[in-house]
This record gives sequence, C-alpha cells and structure tokens, in this order.
Amino acid sequence: MIKSVLPRERTPQSATPSITVEPEKITPNAMEPLGFARYIAWVTLLLVLLLSCLLSTYLGNTARTTLMAKQKEFSALLAENLNHQIYRRFTLPTILGFGRIALRQTAVYERLDNVVQSTIHGLHVEHLRIFGHDQVITYSTITDELGKDELAHPSITAASASSDDAPIFDIDSAVPYWKAFFSFSLDPGAFILRTTYPLRMENRLTSSEDEGPLMGVLEFTRDITPDMLTAIRFQQLIVVVTLMSSGLMVILLLLFIRRAERVISTRMAEERRLQVELLQHEKLAGMGRVIASIAHEIRNPLGIIRSSAELLLKRSTSSQDTGTTRILQAIFDEARRLSQTVSDFLDYARPRQIKQVQVNLSGVISQALAFLEPEFASRKIHAEYSDLTNAQALVLGDTDMLYRAFYNIMSNAIQAMKNTGILRITLASAPATGETPTLRIVFHDSGDGFAAETLPHILDPFFTTKDDGTGLGLPIVSSIITSHGGSLTLENAPTGGALVIVTLPAQMSSSLLTL
Ligand code: ADP
Repeated sequence: MIKSVLPRERTPQSATPSITVEPEKITPNAMEPLGFARYIAWVTLLLVLLLSCLLSTYLGNTARTTLMAKQKEFSALLAENLNHQIYRRFTLPTILGFGRIALRQTAVYERLDNVVQSTIHGLHVEHLRIFGHDQVITYSTITDELGKDELAHPSITAASASSDDAPIFDIDSAVPYWKAFFSFSLDPGAFILRTTYPLRMENRLTSSEDEGPLMGVLEFTRDITPDMLTAIRFQQLIVVVTLMSSGLMVILLLLFIRRAERVISTRMAEERRLQVELLQHEKLAGMGRVIASIAHEIRNPLGIIRSSAELLLKRSTSSQDTGTTRILQAIFDEARRLSQTVSDFLDYARPRQIKQVQVNLSGVISQALAFLEPEFASRKIHAEYSDLTNAQALVLGDTDMLYRAFYNIMSNAIQAMKNTGILRITLASAPATGETPTLRIVFHDSGDGFAAETLPHILDPFFTTKDDGTGLGLPIVSSIITSHGGSLTLENAPTGGALVIVTLPAQMSSSLLTL
C-alpha cells in the first residue's frame, strides 16, 4: 500500500472530519449561460427558412415563366406556320380548283389532313382541331369529334371575335401546381398548353396591311409536362439545398453553443467550488489562528512547570522519597510531552514564511545525521548515506524547514527500529518531471515498516501509534515538502522496512549558498 502526498493535493486524511464540503448544485439556468444565443440560433433558422421559401418561390416562378414563354413562342410560330401552310397548300388550291371548300368530301378532307399532318409532324402536337364559323368542328386529329359544336372552349369565341391574329394560350393542368411541387413524378399530359389561333386568308398578294378574312379557328394542344417538371425539379432543388445548408448551419451553431455552454458551466461550477473551498479554508485558518494563539499562551507556563518539575525531581531523588519522586517524575514526563505537542502543533499550524534561498540538501541531511548521531550510537543503529556532489544537490527553499522535515523522518526511523538496525539514505537525481529536474531522497529503515491498517491515517494530524508521540511529525514533513513544490511517498519496501521518499524540484544553478 502506498501513501503519497503531492504538491497542493488534498488528501482525504487532511480534510477536517466535521466539515463536509459538497459541490454546489448547479441550477438549470446556470447550465444554460448561452440560452439567449440558442434562442437567436432558432430565430435565425426560422428567418432563413422563410427567406429560402420566398427565394425558391421567386426563382422557381422565374424559371417556369421563362420556360412557358419559350413554349408560347414556339406554339405561336407553329400556329402562324399552320395558317400559312393551310392557306397556301389547301385553301387557295381548293378554291381555285373546286370554287368552294367542301370538307365533307373525303378527298378534300384528306388534302387538309395531309397538309396539317405534314406541318405538325415531329412537333409534339397532341391534338389539333379547326372550328368553323358556327363553332362546329370541321377538322380534328380525332375524327370522332367532327361535326360537334359543344366542344368549343370560350377562347374559340374570343379568337373568332379578335381583330388581330394574336394567339390565345391556356394551360390545362390535371394537378394543381403546389401538389405537383410535392410529387416525385408527373403523368404525361399533366400540364397541357392549349393554343387558339384565328385562321385567316393571307393578303400578301394584295400587299394589304389589313388582316385577311377569317377562315375558322385553329386549336391545338401540346404536352408541356416535361418542361413543367424541369421547373418543379429546379424549385425543389433550391428548397432542398437552402433547407440543408441552413439546417447544417444551425446544427453547427447549436453544437458550438452547446460546447461553449458546457465549458462555461464547468468553469462556473469550478469557480463556485473554489469559492466554497476558500470560505472553508478561511474558516479553518481562523480557527487555526485562535488555537495557535492559545497554544502559544500555554507554552511559556508549561515550560516553567516542566523546568520546576525537573528541579524538584532532582532534589527529591537525593531525598530518597520514592513516592514524591514518582509523582514528580510523572509531572515532568507529562509536562515534557505536552510541551513537545504544543511546539509540534505550533510548527504545524503556524503560517510558514518560506525563505527562498539555494539549499544544499546534501549538507542539510548530513547536519541532521550529525545531530542524531548520539541516538544512532545509543541504539546501535548504523546509518548509510550515499549523496551527490554539493553542486548537484541544490534546491530552492528554506534550510531550517527542510532540516526539520529530514530530522522528523530520521527520528521516526530510529524509533521504528527500536534497538539496532540500518537506515539507508540515498540522495539522487530523479528523472525530470516535465521541464524541471528533480532530486529524490529515499529513507529506508530496517524496522517493521508501516502497518497496513494505519497507513491511510498516517498523515492525519495527531495520529500516532506511540505512547509519547504527538502525531504531528509526518504532517509537518508533508506540509514542508509540498510547500516546497515537492512530493512525499510513504510505502513499505519489498525487502521489508519503511520507505519514505521525498522528491523536490532541483535548482540548476551551480553557485552554492553556504548553509
Ligand atoms: P509520531 O511520530 O509522533 O507518532 P508521526 O506523524 O511522525 O507522529 O508518525 C505517525 C505514525 O506513523 C507513527 O506513530 C508511526 O506509527 C508511523 N510511522 C512513522 N514513521 C514510521 C517508520 N519509519 N516506520 C514505521 N512506522 C512509522
């Protein structure tokens, strides 16, 4: 099991048990900080849709009108040509030959039919009829209609009454245009262009500008469904393309808004959490300051109690009064323990002003080792220390604090090994974390190691397994190391014994600062 303390990391152990900090619940409103932008996106979509509908209607109508104009122009030319062909190749020769036109005679009718069929051949004329003066059908491509007078369209009357030879156009549609717009295909004959044209005798022989006498009214139909279908397809294409592009645009906009909202919401939640945490820390810091000032007040009278008990103890030892000696010994021991606890607590709780100087770690460790030498010797503990050259062991920090941290670790190791053992200390350059090179100090003792059940609590302030322990040694170490931007790892070595690993950011400068 490994216990690590990284810089600025909040371990569960260090949290005050009585205070629970929960992330503030985020209201839906806070989740949608860009609600207005979302609203704008939808309004934009509606506007784009409306505009695209208007645009497609306009473009579609323009295309349809252009196609229709072409069709009408063609039909007008055809009507004019039919008039010319009928007059020149049928009316004139028949009148000259027979004196009159009798369409009831098969030969005459066939002659007219021949002229008409040869003129309209290949020009996609569906149906052609010629009405006489009394609106009776005198010629038709459907022979069953001959002689009927009830099939005349109102435009026949209009054409026969017209003084000029302008054709009249009508569109007969089997389906309304809006329905045709939504259909995938159209049956042939869905849109028919009907042209009505007054058949007149030509006056060119007389070079007169006047219209010739009316011979009858010509009516023919042409299927314009393919052209209409082209116009509809074009209009459909415009609608689909504008719908798709505007839909895509809005989807992208919404995705962007959603992503931005998520980022903003996360930041807002984080900001709130930090605010709550800050408040909590401020409260705790306030409490800490009060307790620290109480501890400070206790320390001086406690020092007097301890030294007085020590003095009295020395005197009573010589007086052979064992009962009093025992009591004085107990007062002295407790006062000393309490005094140690108060000092440790003040070290732990007091805000630290870290000096930022170049510290030679090698020297600091050697100094702590030298100070503890008598203790090593009395317990028959052997200390092995492999270090680096002074220039390689530089860190930026506070010499006294780092000394205190290493002292606590070594002191714990001595206590853990009881009598006899080996403490191996290694100071080495560690693989760089990112840009910064680091130094790694490993303390490996030959004691029993950390008990598995106590390891999770080992960094809790006041947690101790010792009768005379304060439980503040490792929390002080942890606080010092993390405040230097380093990390602390506590674990058991596979070969036995406790491993305390400290890493600190190394200083690149080669200039040494004396300790
Ligand atoms: P204290 O030394 O006053 O008990 P610490 O915070 O220094 O307080 O240590 C907390 C506990 O961690 C100790 O009581 C001990 O159980 C355990 N501990 C610390 N160092 C070692 C070690 N080198 N080997 C085994 N256990 C240790």
